[in-house]
Amino acid sequence: MAEYDFDLFVIGGGSGGVRAARISAGHGAKVGIAEAFRYGGTCVIRGCVPKKLYVYASRFPQEFAAARGFGWEVGQTPFSWHALVSAKEREITRLEGLYQKGLEAAGVEVFADHASLVDGHTVALSEAGRKITAKRILIATGGKPNIDPKLEGREHVITSNEAFDLERLPERIVIAGGGYIAVEFAGIFAGLGVETTLIYRRDKILRGFDEDMRDAVEKGYRQLGVRFVYNRTFARIEKTSSGFIGHMDNGAKLDADQIMFAIGRSPNTENLGLEAAGVATGPGGEILVDAQSRTNVDSVFAVGDVTDRVQLTPVAIREGHAFADTEFGAKPWSTDYELIPTAVFSTPEIGTVGLPEHEARSAYPHLDVYKSTFKPMKAVMAGKDERTLMKLLVDGASDRVVGCHVAGYDAAEMVQSVAIAMRMGATKADFDRTMALHPSASEELVTMREKWVPPAQAAE
Ligand code: FAD
Repeated sequence: MAEYDFDLFVIGGGSGGVRAARISAGHGAKVGIAEAFRYGGTCVIRGCVPKKLYVYASRFPQEFAAARGFGWEVGQTPFSWHALVSAKEREITRLEGLYQKGLEAAGVEVFADHASLVDGHTVALSEAGRKITAKRILIATGGKPNIDPKLEGREHVITSNEAFDLERLPERIVIAGGGYIAVEFAGIFAGLGVETTLIYRRDKILRGFDEDMRDAVEKGYRQLGVRFVYNRTFARIEKTSSGFIGHMDNGAKLDADQIMFAIGRSPNTENLGLEAAGVATGPGGEILVDAQSRTNVDSVFAVGDVTDRVQLTPVAIREGHAFADTEFGAKPWSTDYELIPTAVFSTPEIGTVGLPEHEARSAYPHLDVYKSTFKPMKAVMAGKDERTLMKLLVDGASDRVVGCHVAGYDAAEMVQSVAIAMRMGATKADFDRTMALHPSASEELVTMREKWVPPAQAAE
């Protein structure tokens, strides 16, 4: 009889867990996986995928308006929130099915259950009331949205978990937060015609991103009608007969039909039995792991958001894949966190890879900045006051491109391709040698010739 029920038991059927389970099974391991909510995890069910679908939905009003510039007469354009939610639900259910089928096809035993550790080799399934043993256990339980634990009336606020499935579209929403999730939801709601306010405890959204990108999004959002309340937080949320009142720390109030919190996410380790198994966590509750995703307990590993390394789907997937190849495929490798391209699906959209200017300036004493801002062809005809901004940061000493930032239409699509060149160590001369693709917005990336000079220096 085998010593354990499984070679590997995975807790969490999201991006990282599913990849690790499938690849490990492909290497011949006997694998089981438990998911407490829905297969696909945050990304598929209430993250990247529904978010992008709603971003598409939110951009149609601008497209309808633009169409007139191209000779189209657009008639009535009523919007049904209910139809959008239903269409989204159909799509994520389809994807959820594909995730499950993929696991089953790989020979993974799939459980719909909440799992917790009993010890380093044992997992308890709550619903089934069953204990399972495994040679190795992988924790891939993701993260969960934060709400200030001291906030009075915190039960009245929603998070990204609920925002996709609201019964009706609010007329007024206030979103607390300034990170990419808060900003993306503000763009979605404003685009759909909701009176949207962003309240943020600092003085500018999208901390950590390149300053020019932050400014571009803020400007675009102001044009969309988003209102910003900076340097404020909520002290109390009050429910009224018609909606909610957010009482701010300075005594002022914000009225809304819905108040949403998007102030960050924490590792999802509640009721996971980490103490029972002796798994060590860090100050933010994240499971501490080494480069091979190994915890302090030899048989227990963790990948994805629960380890709070970089909270992105492709990163969780890579970590899961590296774990599986290393532990079951005799192909050891670890995830490389350099040059991760990211996007903010705001309108305008941001695509970014490499260092923002403020970090590049400290890392490279001879930094050359190339910037181009222009009105895209489509916006000219549409009569829209919309600009695209592109920025290349180049280490003057080596000529290597160390940062690329784009704000504007399809920025994410452009930057994914630039990331390949940057990974290969592309120099500015390589960009210059590349033939432009005309007419496109991205051709600007290979035609920027003049170094940008700060206005103060230019005046000297
Ligand atoms: P998850 O995908 O969160 O999966 C964890 C799974 O574990 C969940 O399904 C959960 O139900 C399950 N689980 C938890 N505890 C247990 C338990 N005890 N037993 C059984 N199952 C359990 N990333 C991007 O790259 N691009 C984006 O555009 C993007 N947009 C996002 C938008 C939003 C609104 C949010 C919230 C996130 C977004 N992310 C995005 C982040 C991305 O979703 C996460 O980084 C990714 O899902 C992490 O994968 P994971 O496998 O670590 O965890």
